[in-house]
Amino acid sequence: MDTDYIRSHIRTILDFPEEGIQFKDITPLLLDSKANELTLSALLEPFKTLSVDKIVGLESRGFLFGPSLAKDLRAGFVPARKKGKLPYKTTQKEYGLEYGQDVLEMHIDAIKPGENVVIHDDLLATGGTAKAATDLVLELGGKVIGYSFIIELSFLSGKNQLLEGIPIHYIIQY
Ligand code: AMP
Repeated sequence: MDTDYIRSHIRTILDFPEEGIQFKDITPLLLDSKANELTLSALLEPFKTLSVDKIVGLESRGFLFGPSLAKDLRAGFVPARKKGKLPYKTTQKEYGLEYGQDVLEMHIDAIKPGENVVIHDDLLATGGTAKAATDLVLELGGKVIGYSFIIELSFLSGKNQLLEGIPIHYIIQY
C-alpha cells in the first residue's frame, strides 16, 4: 500500500482553528482521484472479511469516506452529528475535543441490538469524539468491532479512550 502517496496529499495548517493546533487538512487528498481511491481501499482492507452491519461516521469529515466504506462492505451508514442537527429522536453524549466541548447525537433507531459496528472518522486526536460515539453505539445495544481513521495523531494518545481490545485502524500516523 502506497501510504506515501496518501500522506503527500494531506496538508498541515498551523494555528487552525485555534493557535497551537496543527490542523490536518484532507481536502488535497479529496481533490486527487488516485489518493481518494488508495484511501478508500486502505480503509476497506481490515474489514473486508468481517461481517459489518453499520459504519458510524463522525461529523463532519467522517461523512466523506464513511458512506463509500459502508456501501463496499454492504453495511448501512449512520451519521453521528453535533447537537441539534438530526431531525428524529436522538440519544446524546457530551464530550471534550482537542479544541473545545461538544455534544454528539445519533438517531435512536440507527443501530439495532447486536449489530456489528465500525466507528469511522478522518482523524483520531484526543479520542473524545470516538469515545462519545462508542458510548452511543453501546447504549443502543450495538457491538463495536473496530475503529477506522485516515490519520492518527499518536502524541495525543486518543487510543487510550477507546474500547480495550478492539482493533484501531489508521493509514497515516503523525
Ligand atoms: P478528538 O475527539 O480529539 O479525537 O478529535 C477528533 C475530531 O476532531 C475529528 O472529527 C477531527 O476531524 C477533528 N480534529 C481534531 N484535531 C484535529 C486536527 N489536528 N486536524 C484535523 N482535524 C482535527
